[in-house]
Amino acid sequence: MSTTIGHYVGGTLLADAAGGEQISVLNPATGEDLGRVRLDATEAADRAVAAAAGAFESWAATPVGERVQCLFRYKQVLEDHFEELAALIVSEHGKTMGEARGDVRRGIDCIEFACCAPVLMMGNTLPQIAVSSSFCRSEDEGGIGIDSTSERVPIGVCVGITPFNFPIMVPLWMWPMAVACGNTFVLKPSEKVPLSALRELELTGEAGFPPGVINAVTGGADVVNRLITHPDVRSVSFVGSTKVAKHVYTTATAAGKRAQCMGGAKNFMVIMPDADRDAVVEGVLGSAFGNTGQRCLAGSVAAPVGDAADWFVPTIIEAAKGITVSRGDDPAVKMGPVIDEASRERINSYIQIGVDEGAKLALDGRTAKIPQGGCFVGPSVFDHVKPTMRICQEEIFGPVLSVVRCASLEDAIDALNSTDYGNMGVIFTSSGYNARRFKTRARAGMIGVNVGVPAPMAVFPFAGWKNSFFGDLHANGEDAVRFYTEHKILVTRWI
Ligand code: NAD
Repeated sequence: MSTTIGHYVGGTLLADAAGGEQISVLNPATGEDLGRVRLDATEAADRAVAAAAGAFESWAATPVGERVQCLFRYKQVLEDHFEELAALIVSEHGKTMGEARGDVRRGIDCIEFACCAPVLMMGNTLPQIAVSSSFCRSEDEGGIGIDSTSERVPIGVCVGITPFNFPIMVPLWMWPMAVACGNTFVLKPSEKVPLSALRELELTGEAGFPPGVINAVTGGADVVNRLITHPDVRSVSFVGSTKVAKHVYTTATAAGKRAQCMGGAKNFMVIMPDADRDAVVEGVLGSAFGNTGQRCLAGSVAAPVGDAADWFVPTIIEAAKGITVSRGDDPAVKMGPVIDEASRERINSYIQIGVDEGAKLALDGRTAKIPQGGCFVGPSVFDHVKPTMRICQEEIFGPVLSVVRCASLEDAIDALNSTDYGNMGVIFTSSGYNARRFKTRARAGMIGVNVGVPAPMAVFPFAGWKNSFFGDLHANGEDAVRFYTEHKILVTRWI
């Protein structure tokens, strides 16, 4: 029987007590059992919060310039372990080696950005904001000047809850900036991919972070619910599906925490007749089928406008047919498996829903040439999809592309705006006017122009609108600094 995967608390790996409800972490390509996670490890959650709370005061008092030295060293530790971490992602998540390297690289970007904390945390000063006239003893008898300053100070113990699809990067959206700002942190990674995140945190020990500053507890919903209502926790950062994001947001804020909760998506890519065809094919293929469609920035709907459909539909079907599906560590592979059997069943059932709704299934991933034994599904393309169909409105989170043929750019934007989500929207065009019209009218938080996956780099905030996000301050960028600090305002008069 495989071992129970533990936690990282107070600077050491902590074994979990046996028992309770457990799930197996399986390599989705091979079915190999990599370990088991205890879902209800609430005692470990309490220990992690206690470790973080115990470390907070002295870490917050450590000069920010010293705190970021740990991050500078940690960046180098991740560079040294780059290939090891990418291989770990491939084994428990299934994505291709190239995608896994991207997962680590984009995570390292966040560490580099967090190293800028000494500048990012600076406050503001306004001298002589008022004059006190009651002590007319100086300043030429005109009164004593009053100065005012705002400081950004850490908030305390911060919690992060992450999804399965970017096992290394999404935790790095959260904890480096949180600890750079002087907070301490408890991470609850997805129970489907706990090994990458645990290794990510264990490596913080090599960079010299004091014990307790960064902790991880593995588990499921019980652990999440314990952490987001824990009296010693001040903030909750969540990334995952919309249903859980809404639950976490309402529960955490009702318990008095500040919260930022990123949810699911249904992203459109509009293809104008004047678009560069090579850029479209490359962009749409990468967006719809990269990471096996398991990306919150996956373009899952293509909306060719006017006669663009005439060339686009047959070309994208042929290109999708050429995608080799296999295990992620196969150097020739373009698309790995989906995360688990339940996901495979959900994706296949959505394909059937599309057929039943009357869309034309032009490429059926269920019958594609795929390896036996793992959680594989081939790329699928639906043509003649109507905006009201479920396959156009609901997140499938798999390699299924729906083509909605539109008469005009305005029709395409209306279809995009008709979904409950608002994560991202993309337009392919050579017209600045079309691009600007699209950018202005599309109700989505992230916009791409001739870019299939418009993922903001770490210096910019990352989040969507509508049901793709609950909260005020987004992940990354200056929003992250604001989320992980609070203002302290000083009004000073020297007599
Ligand atoms: P998920 O919502 O199932 O799980 C996310 C986290 O929530 C996990 O840590 C899990 O343990 C926990 N969780 C699950 N059910 C819970 C419950 N009932 N109560 C409390 N906690 C619970 O998401 P997933 O399947 O791991 O990830 C895929 C989803 O994440 C997709 O919807 C995708 O769009 C979304 N996502 C969004 C972004 C973004 O930035 N908007 C980024 C990545 C992924």
